[in-house]
Amino acid sequence: MAKYIFVFGGVMSGIGKGVATSSIAKIIQSRGYRVTAIKIDPYVNVDAGTMNPTEHGEVFVMDSGLETDQDMGNYERFLNITLPRENYMTTGSVYKKVIERERNLEYNGKCVQIIPHVTNEVIDTITNAAKKNKADFVTIEVGGTTGDYENDLFTEAARQLRLRLGKENVLFVMIGYVPFPNIVGEMKTKPTQQAVRALNAAGVQADIIIARSENPIDERRKEKIALFCNIETEAVISAPDSESIYEIPLNFEKDHLSEIILKKLALKPRKKNLQDWENFVKKVKNAKKEIKIGMIGKYFGTGDYVLTDAYISVIEAIKHAAYNNGLRPKIDWIDSGKLEKNEKKLSILKKYDGIIVPGGFGSRGIKGKLKTIQYARENKIPYLGLCYGMQLMIVEYARNVLGVKNANTAEIVPKGKNLVIDLMPEQKESLKNNKYGATMRLGSYLCKIKPGTIAYESYGKKEVSERHRHRYEVNPKYIADLEKAGIIFSGKSPDGKLMEIAELPKEKHPFMLGTQFHPEFTSSPLKPNPIFLKFIEAVSNYNKTKIERVG
Ligand code: GLN
Repeated sequence: MAKYIFVFGGVMSGIGKGVATSSIAKIIQSRGYRVTAIKIDPYVNVDAGTMNPTEHGEVFVMDSGLETDQDMGNYERFLNITLPRENYMTTGSVYKKVIERERNLEYNGKCVQIIPHVTNEVIDTITNAAKKNKADFVTIEVGGTTGDYENDLFTEAARQLRLRLGKENVLFVMIGYVPFPNIVGEMKTKPTQQAVRALNAAGVQADIIIARSENPIDERRKEKIALFCNIETEAVISAPDSESIYEIPLNFEKDHLSEIILKKLALKPRKKNLQDWENFVKKVKNAKKEIKIGMIGKYFGTGDYVLTDAYISVIEAIKHAAYNNGLRPKIDWIDSGKLEKNEKKLSILKKYDGIIVPGGFGSRGIKGKLKTIQYARENKIPYLGLCYGMQLMIVEYARNVLGVKNANTAEIVPKGKNLVIDLMPEQKESLKNNKYGATMRLGSYLCKIKPGTIAYESYGKKEVSERHRHRYEVNPKYIADLEKAGIIFSGKSPDGKLMEIAELPKEKHPFMLGTQFHPEFTSSPLKPNPIFLKFIEAVSNYNKTKIERVG
């Protein structure tokens, strides 16, 4: 039978609960157990697919095509495994199942209630995921903050599961925040105490408290948290801010977290193997040579600060490829809208060793992206286009090289004439019926790779599987003309109908490549995605030639 570790958040959001949960899963995995990770999002949306990335961050896409919160990406990157759709739930998805059952008379005429019917649905989802994954351990991250109205259902399900399976099978972890207010001049534990109290009120006593703070928690503070929160001092884990998220499992181990978890779950100590991970963290620390990458996007939030949550998998994929090559990536965020308003600003692109146009939707900021792509092509700066970034690379090429005036994507001009990027036939129906949720081309599909291309050099094989999230595609009508004008479609769907990778020949450009899929979703520190590795290689070469030119 599996052991379950629930992770609750206290005090406030944004303190790294997802990374902490991934790190807990990682250190247990390092003890030779089969670990899987579940995320519960308390919002009513059935999945994350319809949410605006500016507000909620990246929409992560699983192998199965389920659109989820970015934490699923963290779990996969840390554990270096692929998770099934069973590992994700929201209030919306749980209620949807319960309501479907009720409509099918599955409750035998009973009055269907939140307790026990909805809580049972939550528990069944969790235990089924454990079975599906054949897991020894399951981490379950409860999204949001304890005390939130919408969390109650899941906290209650956790309480019931512990009652059913006993405390040697179900463990509760609370991630608290310990602020250091300047006016006070010391760390304050009160907010964490109150968060633990809120959890207690729901009948859940934390077994372990992870104390997030700017600096490590001292012994005095640990003792205080332990006393007031009713746990042993050793079960208070110090979790200071860290330069790299990948260091966090190692930080937890400094406080012996995996040993404490095994002990609390009545398991004997087991040998630990974190060698690969430690090696990667060493590479992160030792990477000196800086490479500059410009990311042209638009989901940077609306406040005074640049929020990069919408692009988290792209950022991490860049890091995986760069650090594994001893390079330190410096990523700058460029709002495509700003480039659009002031074209002179385009010259700022000169300073980059590589440019990425990541995925996106709609017409805002498009002109700036097209100008950027043209600039990267003409100035031979390594360019990687991801999904929309690939489609726009085709639009730019069609306009400026093939000479198709007003070439465009149907996403911007649905009834336009020269649509080099068009709606996929099966998408027309869903849009006509206003069916937007989970109707894109989603999840993993096979892609055939053409030998003798950059794509082939990257993957080193003729068939790969990558994850998708799009409605539009390269219009088959223009393929022959685009090829004549120099574009190589180096990746295609197995039936040859969908263009999956487009690139320019090396004689024309050192690296100009776009993928219709999202290679960022399958990258991890221990297995960087091949497309990102190849891009970073080109970026590094370009960086060297620039230095030679200056010197
Ligand atoms: N908006 C484009 C499409 O739907 C690209 C999507 C994306 O970049 N993920 O096809």
